[in-house]
Amino acid sequence: MSVPRLLFSHHLRACGIRHAFTTRIGGYSRGPYASLNLGRGVEDDPRAVARNRALVLTTLGLEGAHEVEAAQVHGAVVAVVGRAEAGRLIDGADGLVTADPGTVLAMHAADCVPLLLADPRRRVVAAVHAGWRGTAAGVSLEAVTVMADRYQCRPEDLRAAIGPCIGPCHYEVDEPVMVRLRRWPWWEEVAAPNPRGRWQLDLRAANRRQLVDAGVPVQQIETLDWCTFEHPELFYSFRRDGATGRNAAIVALESSAGGPPPSW
Ligand SMILES: [Zn+2]
Repeated sequence: MSVPRLLFSHHLRACGIRHAFTTRIGGYSRGPYASLNLGRGVEDDPRAVARNRALVLTTLGLEGAHEVEAAQVHGAVVAVVGRAEAGRLIDGADGLVTADPGTVLAMHAADCVPLLLADPRRRVVAAVHAGWRGTAAGVSLEAVTVMADRYQCRPEDLRAAIGPCIGPCHYEVDEPVMVRLRRWPWWEEVAAPNPRGRWQLDLRAANRRQLVDAGVPVQQIETLDWCTFEHPELFYSFRRDGATGRNAAIVALESSAGGPPPSW
C-alpha cells in the first residue's frame, strides 16, 4: 500500500484538529500527475484521484468521510457548510467554514496559498484558497469575519496554518496584479520590485497580514515555509509545470466516526 507523505501544523495538532497539507509523494497517479494528485479538475485518471483521496482520508482516520470542496473561483466568498453539503463542490466559494465534526473541508492548489484556521474554543474550522486574486480580494480576512459572524469566534482564539505555496523567490507578478494589491495599506511589505521592472510577491506574507488585520495574534499564525515551485520532488507547481496535479489542504474537527484522534 502506498504511504502518502503529509505535512502538519504544530499549532493545529496541539489543539487536536485533524488536518494535513499533502505532498505529491505516496499516491497512485502517473506521469505529470505522479503521484498523490488530489485535484479532479485536471487531466489525470479520475480513478487514481479517487484512490488518492481515499488514501489520504484513511491516513487521517477519516475513512469514509465525504469532503466538501469549494469551486475555487479566485474570489473572496467564504461559505458555511455542514453534513448536508457532504461530497459537494460549493459554487463561487474560495473559503469554507464548518462547526460540524463530521464534515471534512478540502482545498486544492498548485502554487496558490492553502490556509487552514481553527478555533479550539468554539470548535470551528475553516479552509481557504488564496491565489493573487483571492488575496487581493481579501479572502483570508473574510474567512475570519465569517467565523466571527456565524459562530462568534474571537479572532484572538484562532490558530492558523499557511501551507506550501509559491514563495516570493519564484513568484514574479506584473503591474495589473500590483494595481489590485495596492488597495491594502501594507502592500509594500509583501511585494518587492525586481530588476526586470516587475515584482516578487509574497502571498504568504499578504495572507498573514490579513489575518493580523482581522485580529489573529501573529504568534498564532504558523507558516509552513515550503516553496512549491522550488521542490518538484515534493509539490505540484502550475507555474513550473503547467500540466500538473494539485496539492491539498484538509481539515476536520474530528473523525466522522467520532472516535479518538489517530496517533499521528
Ligand atoms: Zn521559491
